[in-house]
Amino acid sequence: NDVLQLTGVSKTYGKGGPAPVEVLSSIDLRVARGEVVALVAPSGAGKSTLLHIAGLLDTPDSGQVLLRGRDMTGLPDKARTEARRAELGFIYQFHHLLPEFSAAENIVLPQLANGTPARAAQARAADLLDRVGLGHRAAHRPAELSGGEQQRVAFCRALANGPALLLADEPTGNLDPDTSDRVFDVLMALVRETGLSALIATHNHDLAARMDRVIRLKEIVA
Ligand code: ADP
Ligand code: ADP
Repeated sequence: NDVLQLTGVSKTYGKGGPAPVEVLSSIDLRVARGEVVALVAPSGAGKSTLLHIAGLLDTPDSGQVLLRGRDMTGLPDKARTEARRAELGFIYQFHHLLPEFSAAENIVLPQLANGTPARAAQARAADLLDRVGLGHRAAHRPAELSGGEQQRVAFCRALANGPALLLADEPTGNLDPDTSDRVFDVLMALVRETGLSALIATHNHDLAARMDRVIRLKEIVA
């Protein structure tokens, strides 16, 4: 019943070259259905590499990546892209919203790319914006929103296609501490309401403590 299962995942950059960097060494990690897991790692320990592998943006040298029980290892790029679009939602430290589009349009566009009819996509965008308290900001462009508001729109976009798993890299790391706390509350409420599973990387131990389980990634001392 795991949404994500990594088994024996290893990754070395520059393998076979003069200066290989071993980043992940036989990592085992699971995220169960509905579980919210914190990923805490010192800088350089391979947190981004792990999220890229879980997000099907990179492949491990060895080991397996299972999404909802389906082995993603060795799938062709096209199938990985489809699985990424259908099963995964991403949130980064910076919102990466499209500046020339409104908040609502930023949530509609990924749904159109996934084949959702326009009317349904618009209704879902409106509902998601309401749930993060931004119904009144639907027509605003990112530059017209505060940092916390931009990040809440990015949460809605990540959930637009109803993913099975949310992958987040420092989702509130770009905000001041007070805003970060409030915006994190909004994210957790949204995740809990939708029964979503999540792997959330953070340096913030207070935020990590509020998740179901904490996974610590140690730096490999070469
Ligand atoms: P974190 O996100 O925990 O800071 P990363 O996963 O970004 O760590 O990187 C882990 C280590 O791998 C670092 O030492 C980094 O310099 C190295 N690294 C990351 N990407 C590459 C790459 N494409 N080529 C070579 N080394 C890399
Ligand atoms: P915060 O205190 O959350 O950082 P700001 O001081 O940046 O917020 O903005 C306060 C409010 O004004 C927010 O609701 C934001 O959406 C709105 N706002 C900020 N800049 C603009 C703008 N250029 N156009 C329209 N509304 C704006």
